[in-house]
Amino acid sequence: MPSSPTDQDFYSRVLIAEDDLTSRRLLHTLLMKWGFDVVVASDGREAWEILQGDDPPRLVILDWMMPEKDGLEICRALREHSNEDEPYSYVIMLTTKASIDEIVMGMEAGADDYITKPFSPHELRVRLRAGMRIIELQSRLIAAREAMRFEATHDFLTRVWNRLAIFEILQNELGRFQREGRPFSIILADLDHFKKVNDTYGHPVGDEVLRESIRRIKGSLRSYDSIGRYGGEEFLIVLPETDEKEIIGIAERLRTALSGRPIHILGNDIHLTMSLGVVTVHSQSGLDQLITEADSALYSAKHSGRDRAEFMVLQCGSAHQAWRMQQ
Ligand code: GH3
Ligand code: MG
Ligand code: MG
Ligand code: MG
Repeated sequence: MPSSPTDQDFYSRVLIAEDDLTSRRLLHTLLMKWGFDVVVASDGREAWEILQGDDPPRLVILDWMMPEKDGLEICRALREHSNEDEPYSYVIMLTTKASIDEIVMGMEAGADDYITKPFSPHELRVRLRAGMRIIELQSRLIAAREAMRFEATHDFLTRVWNRLAIFEILQNELGRFQREGRPFSIILADLDHFKKVNDTYGHPVGDEVLRESIRRIKGSLRSYDSIGRYGGEEFLIVLPETDEKEIIGIAERLRTALSGRPIHILGNDIHLTMSLGVVTVHSQSGLDQLITEADSALYSAKHSGRDRAEFMVLQCGSAHQAWRMQQ
């Protein structure tokens, strides 16, 4: 049974699509009495509009014979338009057509159940309950699948994209560059002397420092940038449509987000910095090449003193340009 008021709302909203006024009123009265939240449509087109709208009721009582669009058409269209990422609509077909052939036809159009007119209120209530159970099960399955999808693509500790996922994002960005030719940038960021944090304060504090670092980095990125955990205390950031001029300000913002104020944990003020290897892409490149360039820019930043960014531009036909920014 639904476990929270929100769930209750979700499972107990019902669309009644029925053109016959008497029957519609009777259904409405009964469903209200049983505690359902009722939405009413008096013809097929109205019903279809409601079902195509935002957050439609998932339980649907659909009259077969209706003007504009009959129940059978709506059912077929509903199943055609549905996709596995959306919550399921459970359809109970309401019909005077009671022959086996007709019932089979209704079910083949995508109805989940049917009830013949005139109907017994008790039977309708029981069938609605069965529908609610199916909807609840299906939404639990969707939630479980989403949770699994999230775990498969995110890093356990920091909850940013994992290595596989951020590589896929970078691959997509390379594909977009190929189509549109607009420059983008990547950053390989590595926390400086992070081993010392673990050695001084212990691994659990180290974990919390990693999380806080990520929070600060994410807070300095734009909504369309992506960040993933490349390795232990190394992160790969993909910045779409960002050229060599724009990336300078962003890299500086990231650097100071960390070095600007200490991380306060368990009474300790931990001063942390990071080094950044930045590559702006202007020419067709492979993923491995980009990572290699970012890696060597990062290496330079480390070797020239850390807490700084080293920039690289991959340009068509000309030698790579590189420059360094430091605190
Ligand atoms: P550098 O400035 O050269 O990058 O020095 P560093 O100490 O950051 O680099 P090094 O590669 O020597 O050490 C990385 C450290 O990061 C060692 C490792 O234990 C730590 N680390 C990696 N992943 C995690 C993690 O998930 N949690 C914690 N607490 N530490 C981690
Ligand atoms: Mg009718
Ligand atoms: Mg490091
Ligand atoms: Mg490292």
